[in-house]
Order: sequence, then C-alpha cells, then structure tokens
Amino acid sequence: NGRNRVSHYSDAQGAEQDVLAKQLIMLSELQHGFERGEFFLVYQPIMDAHGEALAAVEALIRWRKSDGTIVPPDQFIPVAEQSRLIVHLGRWVVQQVCHDLPRLHAAGMHGLKVHINMAAPEFLDSDLPAELMATVRAAGIDPSSLQIELTENMVMSHIDTSLPIMRKLTQLGFEISLDDFGMGYSSLSLLKTLPIASLKIDRGFLQGVPRERDDCAIVRTMLDLGRNMGIGVIAEGVETDSQLGYLRQFGCTLVQGYLLGRPMPLPQLLERYRKA
Ligand code: C2E
Ligand code: CA
Ligand code: CA
Ligand code: CA
Repeated sequence: NGRNRVSHYSDAQGAEQDVLAKQLIMLSELQHGFERGEFFLVYQPIMDAHGEALAAVEALIRWRKSDGTIVPPDQFIPVAEQSRLIVHLGRWVVQQVCHDLPRLHAAGMHGLKVHINMAAPEFLDSDLPAELMATVRAAGIDPSSLQIELTENMVMSHIDTSLPIMRKLTQLGFEISLDDFGMGYSSLSLLKTLPIASLKIDRGFLQGVPRERDDCAIVRTMLDLGRNMGIGVIAEGVETDSQLGYLRQFGCTLVQGYLLGRPMPLPQLLERYRKA
C-alpha cells in the first residue's frame, strides 16, 4: 500500500513536470513568434438585435506559427500570462487596433467601437490609463471608441486594484465592459459601484436558450439587470435564429456570435461592412 502511494505520488509529480516543460517550450515559442510578428487580429461583429446594424467589433488575437498552424488564444494566453510577455502582447493588440480603427472609420463605419480584451497582468497596472491615453492620442482616436473587456472574475478578485484603474479609464473617456458575466461571483451591490458601459452574457448561458428553463431565466434576469442599471447587455455566442428571437423578445440590444458573423481579418471586415 505504502509503495503504491509513493509511486502514485511520483506519477502525479511527473505529469506536473511534463505540463511545466510543455509550457516552458510554448513560452519560448511565443516569445520568438512575437519577435517574428506571428500574431494577428481578427474582428468579430457585434450587431444590433435585428442583426442588421454593426454596432461594434471585438478584436481577438490569433497566432500563426511558422509552420502555418493557427493557434487559438485559449491555448496560448494562459501561458503568456505566466510571464511579462502578456504585457507586450497586450500593448501590441492596442497598437494594432489603433492602426486599424481609423481605416474602419474611413470606410464609412463612423463611430464604430472596438472592444479589446485585457488580461490581469496587463490591466492591473496603475500606469495603464496614461499609457493607453498616449497611444490613442498619437493615433488620433477618441478614447470612447475603445471598450475594454475585463472578465468579471478578474475585476472582482482584484477589486481594490481594479476599481481605481476602471475609474481612471472612464474619467479619460474609455468604456469598460464586464466579460464572461455570470461566471464569477459578483455581489450585486459591488456591481452597482462599477463604472461599466456594458455586460457580456457568457455564451455558456446561451447554449440552453430557448429550450432550458433555467438558462432562459438567467438570461432574462441579466437582461433586466442591465436595463435597470442603465447599461448595455451583449449576448455572446448566438448561434441560432431561435436564440436571437428569444433575446430580441426580452429586450436584448446587442448580439454577437457565429450566426451574425465569425471573427474575420480586417480586409474581410472592410469588404463586408464598407459603406459607400
Ligand atoms: P472571449 O473574450 O469570451 O471571446 C469570445 C470567444 O468566443 C472568441 O473565442 C470567439 O471567437 C468565440 N465565439 C464568438 N461567437 C461564438 C459562437 O457563436 N459560438 C462559439 N462556440 N464561440 C464563439 P477566441 O477568439 O478563441 O478567444 C478565446 C478567448 O481568448 C477570449 O474569450 C478571450 O478571453 C481571450 N482573448 C482573445 N483575444 C485576446 C486578446 O487580445 N487579449 C487577451 N488578453 N485575451 C484575448
Ligand atoms: Ca471578450
Ligand atoms: Ca466572453
Ligand atoms: Ca470566454
């Protein structure tokens, strides 16, 4: 028995070391990839609930490795977050968006907003607001064109640091969106104090709509919450007409998902939504 326990323990330890080794390899690949310019952005439309007007786009990062394979962010962001690389990647995303946004505006999408995701190490830095301001100024962009998406989990678990940064950003004119809403543990009284422009309903809740009563009840509650707080609600992961119909019926104003448009590179976005 004692022996089994020992060997079991060392198996687990071995597996842990494997994971660690793989992460270290990926981190070094990521670093080289960053130096070689292997990252690019795709943009996913955020539409009005009729699916007709483009209200905003969300910038989503992709990694094209030298062998041509494209790695989705869920696979490399958590690894990049283990080092300072996430901060450099995050700055690159902001720079790239500031480069692309004037082209969208010039193509007739006046007032279009771009949503940007930020990870904790990038966001929880008191220099962020001033740096972000300098970047948008240099690009001639109004801060209100950017909406920063922060996960509910990140905001709430670092509330003492995150709240002053959120306040500073909104003072400067940036907007903030609470991402993956419903997955964390927000107290409603805390939520009320956050300077946010919108909530994003996590797509996990949309999966059961309109079939499952519980999911439907949660989604309707979030829509009410947003309305009562006077902020926008964006439903993520809308894949079917029946989901869209349900959301519209209960007053959702903004929707995002494969039904309305997949994330696409800038040229495709320009082609699809250009206004003569
Ligand atoms: P997220 O912020 O929740 O982004 C939404 C994800 O859902 C995106 O995955 C998007 O492609 C996907 N999605 C959109 N519509 C649908 C749909 O109808 N069905 C399904 N099944 N999925 C849909 P993606 O691009 O793979 O990004 C995954 C996560 O990686 C993001 O989740 C975000 O947390 C993170 N991420 C992406 N770009 C960045 C970035 O530039 N910086 C940081 N820090 N994180 C990023
Ligand atoms: Ca997001
Ligand atoms: Ca989300
Ligand atoms: Ca997510």
